[in-house]
Amino acid sequence: MHRFVFATFNRGKVREVAGILSGLGVQILSPADLGVAALAEETGDTFLDNAVLKAAGVFHATGLPTFADDSGLEVAALGGAPGIRSARYAGGDGHDDAANIAKLLSVLRGIEDRRARFVCTVACLVRPGDLPRGLPEPLSPAVRLVSGHPFTPAGALLLVAEGEVVGRIIDTPRGHDGFGYDPVFWRDDVGKTFAELTADEKNGFSHRGNAFRALGEALGRVLAGDGENRG
Ligand code: IMP
Repeated sequence: MHRFVFATFNRGKVREVAGILSGLGVQILSPADLGVAALAEETGDTFLDNAVLKAAGVFHATGLPTFADDSGLEVAALGGAPGIRSARYAGGDGHDDAANIAKLLSVLRGIEDRRARFVCTVACLVRPGDLPRGLPEPLSPAVRLVSGHPFTPAGALLLVAEGEVVGRIIDTPRGHDGFGYDPVFWRDDVGKTFAELTADEKNGFSHRGNAFRALGEALGRVLAGDGENRG
């Protein structure tokens, strides 16, 4: 069975993504399963940089195909902020969701345009030898093979999947599920915030769900040896 490492220490994310990728017949390991104690710091300028940094550290340490995600909230009226600073928007250590929401609502006070989106970038590092049949062409509509990224380890291929979900920011938090900005992220189509959805409902159309479904589709084709070989 193919083994992939998901470079995260968030057990909830591992469970969620293992569910999304369950049809692939691959085993998803966490860094902790392999004795890796820490992830690289997120010092990049983009979601992609940070996802590649996290994946590259674990790829080096384990020698196994590895993927990592980086995600955040982009608010149109704030020019895309908080963006890659979403976890630490209020200046804390990245775990104070209430402070981040309070800062967001205070910055948006009096602003009518509340359009926002969550985005998620997944970086997957593999060695050509991990894919005996090469990469199918085309890979998948939502997954790109990225060459020349500065944080890609020598000899590795970088596959990148992206997902997004649009909504708007409401003034009064609603709901108790989820995490981060979920209580103020409102979806008109369901008439609820993300914090009022079950985990399964949220995964069904979330940025992370969309990005990992795209990666899963591409890996499914790669592992099945679909399409023409482009090495
Ligand atoms: P991470 O890179 O997935 O750990 O996400 C960084 C930050 O973006 C989190 O700490 C949250 O503040 C925000 N964020 C990312 N995804 C979500 C989500 O699904 N709901 C709410 N907030 C999120």
